[in-house]
This record gives sequence, C-alpha cells and structure tokens, in this order.
Amino acid sequence: MAPPLQPVRGTRDLIGDDAARHAYVVDTARRITALYGFSEWQTPIFEDTKVFSRTLGETSDVVTKEMYTFEDRGGDSVTLRPEGTAGVCRALITAGLTQTLPQKVFYNGPMFRYERPQKGRYRQFHQIGVELLGPSTPLADAEVIAAGWQILNELGVAKDVVLNINTLGDAESRDNYRAALVTYFTVHAESLSADSKTRLEKNPLRILDSKDEGDLALVANAPMIYDHLSEKAAQFYMGLKTALTGFGVPFTENPRIVRGLDYYNHTAFEFVTTALGAQGTVLAGGRYDGLVEQMGGHPVPGVGWAAGIERLAMLLESPPVSTPPVIVMGEEKAIEVAAHLHAHGVKAEISFQAGFKNGLKYANRRAAKWAVLANPEGLVLKNLDDGSQRDITLVELTPLLRS
Ligand code: ATP
Ligand code: MG
Repeated sequence: MAPPLQPVRGTRDLIGDDAARHAYVVDTARRITALYGFSEWQTPIFEDTKVFSRTLGETSDVVTKEMYTFEDRGGDSVTLRPEGTAGVCRALITAGLTQTLPQKVFYNGPMFRYERPQKGRYRQFHQIGVELLGPSTPLADAEVIAAGWQILNELGVAKDVVLNINTLGDAESRDNYRAALVTYFTVHAESLSADSKTRLEKNPLRILDSKDEGDLALVANAPMIYDHLSEKAAQFYMGLKTALTGFGVPFTENPRIVRGLDYYNHTAFEFVTTALGAQGTVLAGGRYDGLVEQMGGHPVPGVGWAAGIERLAMLLESPPVSTPPVIVMGEEKAIEVAAHLHAHGVKAEISFQAGFKNGLKYANRRAAKWAVLANPEGLVLKNLDDGSQRDITLVELTPLLRS
C-alpha cells in the first residue's frame, strides 16, 4: 500500500467539534455585524500580487516573508490573500462604489501566510472581519470596535480579553514621530537586530513591532507618539476614547501598538488574551485612510478589523450543541416518514443500519431523544430517554417533534 497522503504543513482539517466551533464563530459574527448594518462580501482568495505588495508595506513581515506568491500558467504573478482588507478595498474600486458611501462590509474566509506553524498559528487560517468605508469620524472607529467587542461577548470569551488602543496619528504626526524615532534608534543602531537596521532606513516605525528581545529593550525607552501628535490627530484620538466610553467598551491605552501592516493611520487596536500563550492577539485592526487611493481609487477613508477564527474557537468554553435528529427506522416506510418530517422543518435522519437494534445504537451515538419505528402496519414513537413507546400517526408526529 502507498503511504497515506498527508495534509500540507500548517494546514488543518475542520471536522467534528472543530468544524462546529468554527461555524459558531462565523454565525455569531454574521448575526452581530448584521445588527450594525454590515453586509457580507466575498472576494477571491487570490489576487494580483500588487494588491498586497503595493499596500501592506515593503518592510512588513507579511510582504517580506509570509506571502504565497507564484506565477500562474499565463505568467501572471498572483498571491493567495494574506489578509482581507486589501481585497475588499480593491473590490470597492472594481464595483465602482467609491462614491456610494458608507459601505459596511463583513467577510469571512481562509487567509494564507507562510509562517512557522504552532498552536494558534497556521499557514492556512481563517478570519472574520469588518470594514467600514466612507466615514472619517472617530465614531466609526468606535462602532467597529463595539461590534467586535459584542461578538467577543456573545462568544463568551470577552472575560479573557483586554482591548488595547493607540493612535498612529496623521501624516504630519507621523513625519514628526518618524524623525524622533530615527534620531533615537540611530544612536543605538549597533544594538539593533539586522531586520531592524533595515527598518531604520526604510520604515523606523516598524521597529516598534519587532519581536526581537534586544530590539524590545530599546523600544521600551523609545519616544512616544503622544508627544508628536498634531492638534487634529490628538482630537481624533480623544474623540475615539469618548465614543468608546459611550458604547460602553472598556479599553487600555497602549502606546506600543503599531500593527503589522503599513496602511494604518490614527486608530490602531488589538483585543489581546493571556489564555493563548504567544498567540495572544485575537482581533485587531485600525484606520486606513490612504489605502483605497493607494490602489488607484478615489480617496475613501476606512476603518476595520480582522479576527482569527482558530484563536476564537480555542477560547470558546464549550462547543455549541446542535439539536439531535429524530432517527427514523424501517426501510421504505422510513422514507415517507423522513420526507414528511423534513417538509415540516423537523431535523430527522434515516438510519441506514440493518434492523431496529442497530438503528437504536445509531440513535444513541447521535444522542437522539426520539426514534420512529416505521412498520408497514403503522408508526411507533420511542422516547429514548425513558424507553417508553407508543403508536402514533404521521399527522400527530410533526407538532410533537418540532417542539
Ligand atoms: P500576530 O502578531 O499574531 O502574527 P498579526 O498582527 O500578524 O498577528 P493580523 O494581520 O492583524 O495579525 O491578523 C488579525 C488576526 O488574525 C490576528 O489577531 C490573529 O487572531 C489572526 N492571525 C494572524 N495570523 C495568523 C496565523 N498565521 N494563524 C492563525 N491566526 C492568525
Ligand atoms: Mg503575523
């Protein structure tokens, strides 16, 4: 026999309990975001490489080492999407919606990053996310954060999670801050990691996001963005905090949050947990006012977030239980009964096991409460909790089993 084929490193199958948890996260997010007026979009899982290379930042981890980029048979460079925002913004432009605003988008689906696989970190993983395109008021930032917070609450994971917020300022604040960082890190350049030496030249802000221990020690004493904010940026940040308080969302200010991608300005935030070791960020996002214009569209401000479904699924306390089916047994007669139950919205399964005894075993495995024994002479309803049974007609069956 040939050796069994294996899944590709960093990918996993969603089966059984894992699949149920995953679906529960997506269903909850879809339901909550609809309350806020978001509509679901689906964009392709691969795009022209430029959609990402032009926008995520040439020094970001994702672009430098994590993208699945390849030439297709026609010689075009395509990339499996590493995140959802760039694709949604590209789709906004493609659909000609840059002047039909606001657009409130919810999405979910697989993302791909070539990373070292570990618990909570995969090469194919899944995200839920929202984008609010159009408004440039901090109220919009607060609203997307509030929707995220409500999802975490509904999932029952909010108690383990803290919201960290920060501001990255506007262009003017960034220029001032960048200059201050360059001055500071240039003095300490010889202690920086090789990656961060490059960042110092290309994008010094990126050093704040370094995971290198030596860099982190330097970062601890680096200048703070708060001291370099323009009047406008400071007001925006104040507005965000006021609105979050209005929404009743608790938060902590954390000046070290810069986010892994370059397109963010003003608001940056992360919901973090200590329950997942190093993979502690469960939901993260920010404002990206320059992104749509960078992709060749009319300028459209935007704010959004994405959350790792696998990480949320791991935090769920108990997997959601689905109602067990009614098990129907008895050859041809079973078909008629099952068809009737399905037509009336009752969850029912025909047992394919030979004989009632095996059928009952199957019912037990499915944790069924009811079994219908369909004999040519008539139907018997069996209560599998107490073992009692009685004769019943098709018409009586439906209201009883639906309740
Ligand atoms: P991290 O710092 O953990 O690498 P990130 O900043 O790269 O995260 P984002 O690009 O902001 O992550 O993606 C949003 C969310 O998607 C993360 O907070 C996380 O929950 C999830 N996520 C990101 N990368 C992975 C991965 N490789 N496997 C599983 N989930 C992931
Ligand atoms: Mg990452």
